[in-house]
Amino acid sequence: MQIAVSFGCPGCAHPIVLEAITAEARCRACLRTVALDHAAWASFAAKAVARLLAGDKVGRSTNFDRYTVVTRVALAAPTCACGAAIAIDDLDALERCACGAAIAIRRGEDAWLPAAIHDDIVAVIGERAPAAIAPVSPVAFRCACGAGLTTDGTTRAVRCATCGEVDVPLGLWDALHPTLPAPAMYALIGGVA
Ligand SMILES: [Zn+2]
Ligand SMILES: [Zn+2]
Ligand SMILES: [Zn+2]
Repeated sequence: MQIAVSFGCPGCAHPIVLEAITAEARCRACLRTVALDHAAWASFAAKAVARLLAGDKVGRSTNFDRYTVVTRVALAAPTCACGAAIAIDDLDALERCACGAAIAIRRGEDAWLPAAIHDDIVAVIGERAPAAIAPVSPVAFRCACGAGLTTDGTTRAVRCATCGEVDVPLGLWDALHPTLPAPAMYALIGGVA
């Protein structure tokens, strides 16, 4: 089944899209790190999976701590971002799609997964490491005071001679560090076709 989880950053409300079932997520807008433990995942993901398996409708929101977490789970076979179906031959090896993309596979023995998703989880397919905030060629923008500033994309805060520390505008920052819209995480659960 396909699993997609997102929530609004508690610091800046920018959407955070979870790309792996892990203990923390980073907001790509304000760079704040949000901690997520087993219990957090269980409170939204495991609950949504259980409801889907019980025949409930797809998708639900849950409040977790201060966040509104949007979890969507659906019965769907693993698919690469290119659209091709992913045939899993060996749960212990990376799968490679015909398009060249490497598809990560994590076995359900990993203690995180039964606690976070489902007791009978066999594997999670397609987790990604969040893209690094890597330097780019300097990009110019204008400060609210009119001064010309530049950013190399590695940090949100930039120094303006007049205003002091200012943020790179969110629109520009998002363009430099786009949030990928459709995370392709799939859980294989024993006994589920
Ligand atoms: Zn944020
Ligand atoms: Zn592909
Ligand atoms: Zn300024």
